[in-house]
Amino acid sequence: MGSKIIYFTINGRPEQAEFPLDCPAQDVKDLFRSAAEAGPHDILKLYNPKGNIINISPQLAPNTPQSSYKLEVVAANCNSEPLQSLEKKILIEAGETPAIVYEMKRQVESFREKLESVEHLSWLGLFKELSDATHKPSPFYHKRTLRKTREECEHVRDKFIQMSSLEVSDEVRQYLKTPTFDNWQWEDAEIMVLLQVMYVDLDFISTFNIELEVLQQFLYQVYRRYNNIPFHNFKHCFCVTQMMYGLIWLTDLRSTMDSIDLLTLLTSAVCHDLDHTGYNNAYQINARTELALRYNDISPLENHHCAVAFEILEKNESNIFRNLSTDQYKRIREGIIRCILATDMTRHNEILNKFKSILTVFDFSSKDHRDVLMMILIKVSDISNEARPMDVAEPWLDCLLQEFFNQSDMEKLEGLPVSPFMDRDKVTKPSSQTGFIRFVLLPLFMELASLFPCLELHIIDPVRKALDYYTEMEKALERDTLTRAQSDKTAKSKEPSASGSKEPDPEAEAESSLKPTAV
Ligand code: 5GP
Ligand code: MN
Repeated sequence: MGSKIIYFTINGRPEQAEFPLDCPAQDVKDLFRSAAEAGPHDILKLYNPKGNIINISPQLAPNTPQSSYKLEVVAANCNSEPLQSLEKKILIEAGETPAIVYEMKRQVESFREKLESVEHLSWLGLFKELSDATHKPSPFYHKRTLRKTREECEHVRDKFIQMSSLEVSDEVRQYLKTPTFDNWQWEDAEIMVLLQVMYVDLDFISTFNIELEVLQQFLYQVYRRYNNIPFHNFKHCFCVTQMMYGLIWLTDLRSTMDSIDLLTLLTSAVCHDLDHTGYNNAYQINARTELALRYNDISPLENHHCAVAFEILEKNESNIFRNLSTDQYKRIREGIIRCILATDMTRHNEILNKFKSILTVFDFSSKDHRDVLMMILIKVSDISNEARPMDVAEPWLDCLLQEFFNQSDMEKLEGLPVSPFMDRDKVTKPSSQTGFIRFVLLPLFMELASLFPCLELHIIDPVRKALDYYTEMEKALERDTLTRAQSDKTAKSKEPSASGSKEPDPEAEAESSLKPTAV
């Protein structure tokens, strides 16, 4: 087994680390920790020459002294001992603990909690995996682990309310308008604040006389009704809404559509997957679930998402439309229903063809045209992960495949038909993306970009890059499969055939090596 040399600087001083290729992850982290003379509670950050943070792991890409990485110790001694001794000192001098110290302690605790609970900050080395069980398919998956607990919800709500009085910087507000926004850096309470910012910055609060407490109660109820599932969760709701928000600004939709249409678009995005259980319509119909029964197999999920949205809006305390006139409410309800029902992918071609047929004569003053455009906008936002930077998009694919595999595992268990694109024995990360990007994403995105050419740069280019990335990955997997099959064949021909043990089947091996690794 060979070794790997990584060049890096610490405080401007060049260093190099050498470790065996099969070195355990913890040892690699410790190696860098000692190079930085950092303690066990210190946080290390490693940057590549582009200035991006990279994971300290055995998979670190080898480099040269010319393309050296930069190591930084960002927060020394993250435990609360210094705070405790400070509190003691103050107590001796002042006689009582001032409120400001309590507040500081609360903030430190809250920050620690964030570092320990947000999986995508795990590169900081503080993440605590709470339970492996939630990531494994279980026969009770759809019945037991799904809904958020009351404690969980109330905790997040309290945090959200506390945070919502803080000012969100202009920098974040601008960043929030771009498709490069990284959702993984924000916890749920912060995401709720960001959603609130969207309603404020689109002037909905003043235009529609929405009381802040009502908006907060609405966002909380929405948060509560997204389930703890791998993909169709509250973070997906946020991403879709944030892409919609970005599209509204990028295409300057405020100059061509009225506020009711914009409020319809944003709120439809917020509500579009409410109470998704992680099983698609095909499953609902084949398994004859309550939803399929209730909606006669017609878009059971989308009908349900929409019904839950209006259940929330029926309650006065969370009805952000409560100050609208009857006519305005009627229009917005119609619009939201149309938009959410349009997210059923079985209607993809129908809606795209309709859009294509009006594109050359598109007229913003025509309600019919605007209605079709709104359906296209929510569809684009809904499947827009690949339009995001690679390090934001790729974890989403892992989440999607995890949810797909959970469903197909269940289908196998229940003897129901299994969709091939969800089958863990048939799908790989690249195979799932290349076709989807070529035949679904690009054709859809390109039609929208022909109406708004500025989108080429913002959403088409990244999708093209993603296609190249997954095409390369697909080729690499194929090469890997071939090499493995050949080396298995060679090994087999060298083996004495006396053992009587079952020999590996190169075809089965080849197939299993095609399985996605990170899912
Ligand atoms: P949904 O409304 O369910 O969030 O999105 C529509 C559907 O599009 C998803 O359930 C999934 O089947 C498909 N989809 C969305 N994004 C991707 C993607 O990046 N790759 C693939 N293969 N399918 C996707
Ligand atoms: Mn969705």
